[in-house]
Amino acid sequence: MNLQLQYLINLQKFDLRIFQIQDQLRKAPEFLKSAETPLQDILIRLQALKNTGEALVKQRRSGERELATQEDQLQKIRNRLSELKTNKEYQAHLFEIELTRKKKDSIEENVLEMMERVEQNEQAIKELEEQAKEAQNAFDVEKARLETHFANLANELADLDRQQKTLADMVEKPLLARYTRLKTMRKGYAVAQLRNGACGGCQLQLPPQLVAEVKRGDELMDCSYCHRILYMAHHLEAESTE
Ligand SMILES: [Zn+2]
Repeated sequence: MNLQLQYLINLQKFDLRIFQIQDQLRKAPEFLKSAETPLQDILIRLQALKNTGEALVKQRRSGERELATQEDQLQKIRNRLSELKTNKEYQAHLFEIELTRKKKDSIEENVLEMMERVEQNEQAIKELEEQAKEAQNAFDVEKARLETHFANLANELADLDRQQKTLADMVEKPLLARYTRLKTMRKGYAVAQLRNGACGGCQLQLPPQLVAEVKRGDELMDCSYCHRILYMAHHLEAESTE
C-alpha cells in the first residue's frame, strides 16, 4: 500500500489524541474549580452563620447593658422607701416598683432568648465546621488526583508531540501541507475511511470509479465532496500485520 497514506492515517491518530489532550488540559482549571465548589458553598454558609453570630452577640450585650440599667433603676426606687410619708405615696411607690420590675423581667427574657440563639448558632457553626473539614479533605484528595491526571496528560502530550513531529517529517511536504490544511478545515479529520462506498467523513456515496481507485491505493484520492483523503479498512490491516 501507499506508505505515505499509512503515515497520514497514523499522523491523524496522533493529531486527534493531541487535540483531545490539549482540550482537556485547557479545561483543567474548570475541573479544579468544580471540585472545590462543595467546599466553597460550605465556607460561604459558614461565613453567613458567623456574621449572624456576631450580630446576635452584639444584641445580647446591648440587652445585658439595658438590664443592668434597669436593675440599678429598680434599686434606686426601692431605696426611696424611707422617704415615703403617706399611704398614697406608698401605694404609688409600689406601683412604680411593679412597673420597673416588669420592664426588667421583659428585658431579662430577651437577654435569655439572645443567649439561647447565640448558643444554637454556635452549635450550627460547629457542625458546619465539621462539614467544611470533610469537604476540605475530599477536595484535597480530588485535587491531588486531578493534578496527577493532568501531569500524566502533559507527559503524554510531550511524548505525542515528539512522535507526531518525527512522523510529520516523513510525509512529503506538499502532502503534509494538504493534510494540515484539511485538518484545520475538518476539525482534525483530514483522512477518512471509505466504508460501503461512502466517505466516512461526510457520509456521501462516492462514484464506483473513485472507490476502485482508493481500493487499489496507488494514489492518494480525495472525497469528491469534502476532499478528505480516503483510505480503506485493508490499509489499516496492512499496518497491524507489518
Ligand atoms: Zn467526504
